[in-house]
Amino acid sequence: MRTPLVIGNWKMYGTLAEARALATGIRDGLTQLPHVEAVLCPPFTALAAVGEILAKSPIGLGAQNCHDEAAGPHTGEISPTMLLELGARTILLGHSERRREMGETDELINRKVRAVLAHGGTPVLCVGETEDERRQGLTFTTVEGQLRAGLAGVGAEDVPRIVLAYEPIWAIGTGVNATPAQAAEVHGYLRGLVSELASKEVAQGVRVLYGGSVKPENAHALLGQPEIDGALVGGASLNAQSFLAIVRNSARTGGAAKGD
Ligand code: PEP
Repeated sequence: MRTPLVIGNWKMYGTLAEARALATGIRDGLTQLPHVEAVLCPPFTALAAVGEILAKSPIGLGAQNCHDEAAGPHTGEISPTMLLELGARTILLGHSERRREMGETDELINRKVRAVLAHGGTPVLCVGETEDERRQGLTFTTVEGQLRAGLAGVGAEDVPRIVLAYEPIWAIGTGVNATPAQAAEVHGYLRGLVSELASKEVAQGVRVLYGGSVKPENAHALLGQPEIDGALVGGASLNAQSFLAIVRNSARTGGAAKGD
């Protein structure tokens, strides 16, 4: 029974006033969340304010990154414990923008995954291939390497606490989403790997989200795939009505029956 999960990644967008207005609009439109979970990941500067707005709602708070240590001389960094103190339990790790722009390696991402687990949070491990890799037939090789490295040293008992996000880089922010069949194929492959790394039972419970130009118009078809357990939404999460439509679509199509 995998409850669909929709995460809004606001990236580096929004003043505090804009973040408050967006969070309020989403909260007011989602007073009930049957058979779906929703999480908002605002910029760090807006976490406390958005956390207050979401406090009595069913919507969760998350963050876009964290350091792998609880504290230390790391100027400009934010630790998992600082995020958890603010109520941000779901933490995106290994987003392709950070891999590319900040040089984050699989090894660093793995340390972050283990740190978030150790502090009781939910890591969302992002994997995905470039356009060239897909063209060269290297999609599975790429995501397998990222998944194996990201989960290295994670005990089978902790794997169920992890969320995976398949985000083909060519689909992020481009308006060109993976087709439902393309996404489902990779999701199935990832689930097979989790089955090998942990167990079949664990793999059946792990949520694999799709990310890459998810919009209200394509959410229904993508989330209707049994292998797609929700969405990681960038651009369309910056508009309350779009995000609400995606969440509603995933509740309707995802239902509570996945993984049966
Ligand atoms: C993302 O940033 O994770 C993402 C999927 O962005 P977009 O929805 O804009 O493609």
